[in-house]
Amino acid sequence: MAVTKRFISLPRMTPGTQRTIAWFRFGRANARPKIYMQSSVHADELPGAMLLHYLMPMLAAAERDGRIRGEVIVVPTMNPIGQAQLVGNAHFGRYDLQSRDNFNRNWLDLSGDVAERVGRKLGADAERNVALIRGAALAALKAMEPVNEMQTMRVELMKLSIDADVVLDLHCDQEAILHVFTSERDLGGPVEALSADLGAPSTMYNHPFPAALTFSGVNGALWARLANLFPEAAIPSACMSVTVELRSQHDVSHALGERDARNLFRYLIRRGAIAGRAGPLPRLASAPTPIGGMDVGYCPGTGFIVYHVPAGAKVRTGQPICDIIDPRNPGGRAAITPMRARTDGILFSRKRNGGIAWPGMVAYRIAGRKLLAQQLAVASRCVDTLLACRLAAGTADACAAVAERCGRKLAGLADPGGGARARFTATVVKSCAAVPPDALVLPSGLGFVSAAAACVGLGAPPPTNSETIAPCVGAAYGCAAGSLIRR
Ligand SMILES: [Zn+2]
Repeated sequence: MAVTKRFISLPRMTPGTQRTIAWFRFGRANARPKIYMQSSVHADELPGAMLLHYLMPMLAAAERDGRIRGEVIVVPTMNPIGQAQLVGNAHFGRYDLQSRDNFNRNWLDLSGDVAERVGRKLGADAERNVALIRGAALAALKAMEPVNEMQTMRVELMKLSIDADVVLDLHCDQEAILHVFTSERDLGGPVEALSADLGAPSTMYNHPFPAALTFSGVNGALWARLANLFPEAAIPSACMSVTVELRSQHDVSHALGERDARNLFRYLIRRGAIAGRAGPLPRLASAPTPIGGMDVGYCPGTGFIVYHVPAGAKVRTGQPICDIIDPRNPGGRAAITPMRARTDGILFSRKRNGGIAWPGMVAYRIAGRKLLAQQLAVASRCVDTLLACRLAAGTADACAAVAERCGRKLAGLADPGGGARARFTATVVKSCAAVPPDALVLPSGLGFVSAAAACVGLGAPPPTNSETIAPCVGAAYGCAAGSLIRR
């Protein structure tokens, strides 16, 4: 079977111009697993296009040999709007100059639409639910009538991606090491295998439905949001959607493109999309870390920036990462504002030397665990205090004030994530079986999206803000503590 090449036509924005998006299908339509991969939503990030330049001939050869078992969709450069933004001999590909939107934001959250279409039909049969949800998501996209280029690009590309088993969105940073962003809900075997096959030194996980509607975010979050809306139904994470950051913008070379393509091809074999032997899984370079444990270095003022450490360096708390130098201060060292690491970890992304810095600019990011440890310490102190209160007074009512303070502290936690959170969740679940775990303890801390029913079930009013969350937290923790006392 021949490789299929198709074009998406975007509507004309000005007389005499029309853009298209080229996409390719390897394997058969509707075969499983379906893998969707695209590059350059930020149109000035081309390492992914280089990877796909090498991967597509490998896929074509596999197609000729009849080895493609699933369906593989490739969109080598998916953003012709951003690709054409040439201004004064410079290329601006990250933001749409027309709307000033970041090209990788405001993709379509279809969960509400899908819930309306098939919510009542979702039940205990996970396979049937997956088919219903995929059908409803495609129907929702088909019903949309986008009017301009950007909207059409979003709708038409999501028609190709939304029913995929795996979505890979290929990006890069200004100066970075290879790193992978995934959802906490997808952590485990397949994501870690992807990181291991790619040789990614850093893997980070996020809340299952972050507020920023990134391309990979909306494709994966559809399942997490629906699972949250319909806790009684069996809704698996049917789409592993991942953002792969292929190092720095200038890390485009034949050697890297070929190596990355071989690594990804091996992963496609491992996932069963292509017949063959993947061989032993390489060792994962480092365990996944939570985005909540990340140290983001925001510039305190303006000047120009110069770094002390390269991307990929292991750094320690207090270590100088970069200096902001005020060019109008003649005082030598007095002109320098140093920026220091606030956590131990891997400096996985930074800017280029010599750029202008401004207040609030992100100068670097460090994947670390220490902040997380501090956050977890707050949570465990909270539980200890509640437990002590329950042991002393015996009734949940008497501990209401403690519970309220705890609620406020816990609501302020950014991301407890990881093993301790899982143990913590298990304690609450064991003691309060009626409460769906994700409703009370989301990966980003205490989450209360769609938790109204759970709170009512515990005898607390539905939470609407940080103050009304406290009684519900108090009730849930009181319940857990009560159970511990009984034991
Ligand atoms: Zn990007």
